[in-house]
Amino acid sequence: MSRIKFYNTLTKKVEDFVPNVEGKVSLYTCGPTVYHFAHIGNLRCYIMEDILDRTLRYAGYDVKRVMNITDVGHLSSDADTGEDKMLAGAKREHKTVMEIAKFYTDAFFTDCKKLNIRKPDVIEPATNCIPEFINMVKVLLDKGFAYVAGENVYFDTSKLKEYYVLSNQSEDDLKVAVRDDVDEDTNKRNKNDFVLWFTKSKFEDQALKWDSPWGVGYPGWHIECSCISMKHLGEKLDIHCGGIDNIFPHHTNEIAQSESFLGHKWCNYWFHVHHLTQKGGAKMSKSSGEFLCVDLLEKKGYNPLVYRFFCLQSHYRKPLEFSYDVMDNVKAAYDKLKKQVARIVSESNGQTVDEKAFGEYKEKFIDTLGNDLNTSSAITLLYEVLKADLNNATKKAIIESFDEVLCLDLTKAEAASEGPEVDAELKAYIEKRIEDRKEAKKNKDFATADAIREELAAKGITIKDTREGTLWSLN
Ligand code: AMP
Ligand code: ZN
Repeated sequence: MSRIKFYNTLTKKVEDFVPNVEGKVSLYTCGPTVYHFAHIGNLRCYIMEDILDRTLRYAGYDVKRVMNITDVGHLSSDADTGEDKMLAGAKREHKTVMEIAKFYTDAFFTDCKKLNIRKPDVIEPATNCIPEFINMVKVLLDKGFAYVAGENVYFDTSKLKEYYVLSNQSEDDLKVAVRDDVDEDTNKRNKNDFVLWFTKSKFEDQALKWDSPWGVGYPGWHIECSCISMKHLGEKLDIHCGGIDNIFPHHTNEIAQSESFLGHKWCNYWFHVHHLTQKGGAKMSKSSGEFLCVDLLEKKGYNPLVYRFFCLQSHYRKPLEFSYDVMDNVKAAYDKLKKQVARIVSESNGQTVDEKAFGEYKEKFIDTLGNDLNTSSAITLLYEVLKADLNNATKKAIIESFDEVLCLDLTKAEAASEGPEVDAELKAYIEKRIEDRKEAKKNKDFATADAIREELAAKGITIKDTREGTLWSLN
């Protein structure tokens, strides 16, 4: 029996995970659309996928994880209507599409690093794989699953025995109905048909275009994940992840085109993370313009790992409402936890690790996370370790081991949840002005000393004279 089970959107059940090849896992993640910063909702999704990835590794699997970067083809509606997201980003910032893609790809991985999200083994921008996309579209046309209309190539969903394998048909029909009212594509034969290749673009100024057998154009959004996954993980995929908004139409369309192309089942397990919401329950989204980034959390004085801790306290299959009040509680809990761990670490020297207890806790940890990724129970188990009747060396070893998955830097020595480090230039300036003030006071020039204090205060820097010297802090 498998040690790991989780909810499979395909079967709508919590299922034992059994990979195609014993001991190995092929894991595919829908990557970001790089037209803006990732918001902390996107990052909730990547944190929970990271926990899945790390749990599988911790349980001994050899995982290969692949992520695409969407730098072409994603329109503002997930169903081929609205504006081109990358083009809108480029216009907004008066840059080229490639500049935008490079900037926001780098920004995304910087955020991931701050949140201790492991880099996937393969990261592939969609624009790297145009020949693979063209080949898949050709095969789909040859097999009769696609048609050309209005110079675009469409997938013909009427050719499938079952299209809604992942989702609830009636709800999706409703969504499609609403969307079609807004922006109907009259070339489509069936309302759920989707674009595989655009040539007759409504975006005359589309920046990135490639030659194809159907004319100069660019790929639809869904095709990239099927092709990039197959390029690096082969024709049988173990797990495909994404946020729940990806279930329909993105993942539904990925299955349609992949299985029609291959002629057999493609992916066995579909793992979806529920949304981070704002007050009142609205999904956090980039297009709404109202979204929070890691950068802002840092500016407000939160260590990004406090946000990771915040996410781990709730189950990935429930919506999670963001609030600063809860963040403050989590920050206080994180600081306290780090202090407790620091004391354990400092008192662990010279002790021998109880290997039996260590092994037992590791097993419990795998079983806890293996139970549909129950991260809040895994954290409860961590608190149990702190209180357990074990020596500190054993506790330290267990905590370090759990932190391979939780990745909260629990045994790292630096200050717990402080915000960003102060810029070196600013630090040098403050220290120079403190020296000047000391010199002024020594010369009994109190007017200058006071003026320096006020100058620093105006910049949000408070100074305090103590027996240890003058200390400063940023407000
Ligand atoms: P995007 O960059 O828009 O393609 O989204 C990247 C990932 O974030 C996708 O897997 C989305 O399903 C997911 N996502 C988008 N909004 C949210 C949200 N508010 N909460 C959690 N995940 C989200
Ligand atoms: Zn995808």
